[in-house]
Amino acid sequence: MTQVNTQMLGTVRNNWTLAEVRELFALPFADLMYHAQRVHRQHFNPNEVQVSTLLSIKTGACPEDCAYCPQSIRYDTGLEREELMAIDEVLESARAAKAKGATRFCMGAAYRSPKDKQLKVIAEMVRGVRDLGMETCATLGMLTPNQAQTLKDAGLDYYNHNLDSSESFYEKIITTRTYQDRLDTLQNVRDAGINVCCGGILGMGETDQDRAQLLQTLATLPKHPESVPINQLVHVAGTPLKNAAPLDPFEFIRTIAVARLLMPKSHVRLSAGRTDMSDEMQALCFLAGANSIFYGDKLLTTENPEADRDHALFAKLGITPEASTVVAEVCETDHAHEHSHVSAMSNAVAG
Ligand code: SF4
Repeated sequence: MTQVNTQMLGTVRNNWTLAEVRELFALPFADLMYHAQRVHRQHFNPNEVQVSTLLSIKTGACPEDCAYCPQSIRYDTGLEREELMAIDEVLESARAAKAKGATRFCMGAAYRSPKDKQLKVIAEMVRGVRDLGMETCATLGMLTPNQAQTLKDAGLDYYNHNLDSSESFYEKIITTRTYQDRLDTLQNVRDAGINVCCGGILGMGETDQDRAQLLQTLATLPKHPESVPINQLVHVAGTPLKNAAPLDPFEFIRTIAVARLLMPKSHVRLSAGRTDMSDEMQALCFLAGANSIFYGDKLLTTENPEADRDHALFAKLGITPEASTVVAEVCETDHAHEHSHVSAMSNAVAG
């Protein structure tokens, strides 16, 4: 236990070694939580949590074989397929989400990669949501450099594309696209100037080493993802991971804390699986440095705690939603640049 200088934690670094990451995971729980909270306070208001809403704009019938996903066409999960939604419907949902307090609106579509025709429609949705003064995010699968640029031009703030797990465990979960494919899409998104939302899923049967490797990969990207969703597997009947052994909650909380330490300026997001977490566990996740959640009734196709429960938990913990940067900018520019680009983020299970 001599590799990490805990006094230096809080500095942004992109050269973390696996030994260092494992050392952080192995800290006594109280020490890990102390350092995570200390670093969190260096960069964020500890009593603010960023709130996003996620809408599935095209559901099911995805040709990929992600073993956790009810949207894959390969698994019979009883999921009702839905074609790409109409632009008006999407904007209506965005308005409703805004009225409930969400500042960020993420649109998820179950594609391997969108066709250019589909992307054109989605770009219009992005423009419309942006004009409402909300931050925009999309998760649509793999993107080419040109497609990423189209979304950037429409005003997309964040793109979600998860690495899911370590490179070695990944091939046990997905065979229809490679880890490198994912890294390439992340690069295309970065090159287009869109903020990156990228994380993984815990509890799929991976080892401690896999979780450490996932975080090491994220924390050694040339630039840390601005948003790092940490999902807990939702066991969906009909998927190959239906019976995966549940993850020890402390392992989940430790992973949040280590993500906070490795990527001190990123928003760490509590994502899928929150329905299965007690209020106490969520509070520990916030203490460990999580500062972003999804809010509302649905997280793509899996349940999400209802907004009222979130309101009550926030009130108990004295947490307030983080303000949107887009709202401020739209006011400042007096709507002169309706499609101006700002930063934002979000995440999804898909992608
Ligand atoms: S996670 Fe995304 S890419 Fe994988 S099957 Fe589900 S919708 Fe398709």
